[in-house]
Amino acid sequence: MSLIKCPSCGKQISNKAKACQYCSLSMHYDKDDLELLKVMKYRQYRDKMYRLKMWSYTAIALALFGIVPMVWSYVEAVGYGFNASITNHWGVNFVVVGFFIYVILRVMMVITKRAYTQIKSASS
Ligand SMILES: [Zn+2]
Repeated sequence: MSLIKCPSCGKQISNKAKACQYCSLSMHYDKDDLELLKVMKYRQYRDKMYRLKMWSYTAIALALFGIVPMVWSYVEAVGYGFNASITNHWGVNFVVVGFFIYVILRVMMVITKRAYTQIKSASS
């Protein structure tokens, strides 16, 4: 019995093992299985990026939901000759929260992308 490196997770396993004990990859894999594994990882990555992107659009929509009535009230107030202040409108909260969520999502997208690039370069 000797130790071999699992092609999926890179951990040391017995060459007699039927499957990797860490990631449960079958050791009767062939080239197609490895390709499939890569495709699966790519799909996971793509789906996660897609979800993050959709949420970031939601965050932008949230900010717009605040901006539009803010600008509307401002224009209206100026039209009536008031000295309007735009920053104490309730819409500011939406803008701040929406922008905050958007920034977090962008950071998560960068982290996800970096993690995927590492997996990709490790398995090829
Ligand atoms: Zn493994």
